[in-house]
Amino acid sequence: RAKLVGRGAWRFFEPEMNQEARLRRELEQDLRLALAESDFRLHFQPQVDLFRGRLIGAEALLRWDRPGHGPVPPALFVEVAEESGLITGIGAWVLEEACRQAAAWPSMVSVAVNVSPAQFRLGNLARTVRSALEASGLPPGRLELEITEGVLFNNTEDAQRQFREIRALGVRIAMDDFGTGFSSLGYLHSFPCDKIKIDRSFIAKLGQSESSEAIVRAILGMARAFRVRVVAEGVETAEQASFLMNEGCHEAQGYYFGRPVSGDAFLSDLLDGGHRAPHGTCIGQ
Ligand code: C2E
Ligand code: MG
Ligand code: MG
Ligand code: MG
Repeated sequence: RAKLVGRGAWRFFEPEMNQEARLRRELEQDLRLALAESDFRLHFQPQVDLFRGRLIGAEALLRWDRPGHGPVPPALFVEVAEESGLITGIGAWVLEEACRQAAAWPSMVSVAVNVSPAQFRLGNLARTVRSALEASGLPPGRLELEITEGVLFNNTEDAQRQFREIRALGVRIAMDDFGTGFSSLGYLHSFPCDKIKIDRSFIAKLGQSESSEAIVRAILGMARAFRVRVVAEGVETAEQASFLMNEGCHEAQGYYFGRPVSGDAFLSDLLDGGHRAPHGTCIGQ
């Protein structure tokens, strides 16, 4: 068999390509079963207010233990879910489950949920969000959606409408992985958001790369001009945390403050106040 590759060039379908396609199909089938049985879990990673020194939220991160294989990295299966359209159902499950768990947290702790660009394209995201809020009783002000810049690129007008609908519900929107995609001032204008999440690749190089420091400063300056909050992701060291504080970054998330943990572990940490504050002390809620 032959396959059309690139600019109209035909090439024989190689055995490895066959193999890869088959493995992906199997993964997709298992993912479909997992969705039917809601066989996923969420982990939660703390987000802290650097100035007030307290825990203010958590990002929900999807986990899947594939039967016979063990845990699959979300970056891998989310991509398969996007391509197969399964992301709509999986994303709805994530929203519902994250809101359900967060409703049991103290009232000053929010939950941030990742949504994929495909959820904007394939479904009515505002409706899904509204029903997750209603089912859980979580106040809209305690839900934040993390979107990547991919959303801004496809289907601009429809995406803008959904963006407005979601914010009209009182739900916040954060731009995830900011600085890695095609972010421009123009997009911040068409898609007014509440928060920017500086990508962890820039945070990782603080103290080592002057250009990363300059990028972080520039993002913080721009965010001040647009009056949006900033959270730094992937903060692993005290040095990174204090650099960010000195530069006026409001919030942080990363291994330094806490790794993603199960919902039960997060809730009991929350009640014990077991998260690390910027100066190494423990912070409660
Ligand atoms: P993301 O939204 O940028 O999530 C942050 C990722 O960074 C998480 O990886 C988290 O475990 C990791 N991380 C957090 N702090 C640190 C740190 O200090 N150092 C390092 N090296 N890594 C840190 P994870 O859980 O593997 O998720 C990867 C990506 O998968 C997420 O990136 C997100 O794009 C996607 N994802 C996860 N859950 C969902 C979901 O429910 N829906 C959708 N659509 N995508 C999801
Ligand atoms: Mg995220
Ligand atoms: Mg991120
Ligand atoms: Mg990232």
